[in-house]
Amino acid sequence: MAPKTITIIGSLNTDLVTHTPRVPIGGETLTATSFSTGSGGKGANQAVACARLSRPKPSSSQTHPTSDVVVKMVGGVGHDEFGPPLVESMKRDGIDTSGIRIVEGQTTGVAVIIVEEGSGENRILLNPGANYTLKAEDFRAPESLGTPLPDMIVMQLEIPLETVLQILDTAKKAGVDVLLNPAPAVKLPEEAYTAITHLIVNESEAAILSGRRVEEVEKEGFEWEGLASEFLRKGVQNVVVTLGAKGAYYATAAGGAGYIKAEKVEKVVDTTAAGDTFVGAYAVSIVRKSLPSGTSLSEEYKHKPLDEEVIRFACKAAARTVEKRGAQSAIPWADEIERHDARGGLK
Ligand code: AMP
Repeated sequence: MAPKTITIIGSLNTDLVTHTPRVPIGGETLTATSFSTGSGGKGANQAVACARLSRPKPSSSQTHPTSDVVVKMVGGVGHDEFGPPLVESMKRDGIDTSGIRIVEGQTTGVAVIIVEEGSGENRILLNPGANYTLKAEDFRAPESLGTPLPDMIVMQLEIPLETVLQILDTAKKAGVDVLLNPAPAVKLPEEAYTAITHLIVNESEAAILSGRRVEEVEKEGFEWEGLASEFLRKGVQNVVVTLGAKGAYYATAAGGAGYIKAEKVEKVVDTTAAGDTFVGAYAVSIVRKSLPSGTSLSEEYKHKPLDEEVIRFACKAAARTVEKRGAQSAIPWADEIERHDARGGLK
């Protein structure tokens, strides 16, 4: 069987993280408690999640074992000290990086993050840099999505919205399934929904997209059925709302729906990239279940692949991420999930 292909079109960032007892006021210089750099960007995080969750971790001397899922990243980084190392680190995870452009005269996307100790509150200044060089006109032709076409395209909203909307349109015309994780959330034009096969949102993104107040959906006992069916009526085929420690709710146009509990974790250390891990695990499960791209699918089959097993695997993978600090450094490999399962999970 030919491998399945997931193409992620999105952002690559370097995170510059400082920890401080308090945030400096205007004109003040404070000494930070610590500083670290990390690889991030929602696009890159989700590509890493797809790659790691579809293959076992190679030992340091090993090249990557072949996998039944090929993961390709499309994006842009600057011709600076941050860009090439980001690409190299993705290669080490077994990702096809031939779609990442190193753009002359641009800086790599950078997130300057200040973490206030005590409250744990983050303040983030994001400079998109080369992520914004992905232009809508580059994705008008079906071939721009890849030849042969991928089995699934995964996108977020850290590249220009116009580009995302163009890709949705081109993918719809070419018959390619798209998973959209609309983060950071903005309201989307109605026609965009008709091109989304899988919509994965967290609570606040669901609120913003549906025009509700975040406090309303975060209330204890909020019924997700009504909100999810609004997205289904707009043309989305599968909707998943991730609910943090409460797990996830899913609903499909074919009629399946339900709540899946989160996996128990030993200790929540850092929830960064939990959502990205969920998206990657979900994408891998779905492409493994789907027929090869280009096969003419009956409408009935098209809706079948999403079931509780897919959501459970995504919850399992995301739970391992919250037990570790950092973004990409916290994303597990497939064999870690298997070993955890073999031990019977948490006792
Ligand atoms: P979120 O983006 O916060 O909705 O989290 C995404 C997914 O990560 C959730 O659907 C859960 O599967 C998982 N997750 C997040 N926080 C926790 C937690 N405290 N314990 C277990 N799983 C979690």
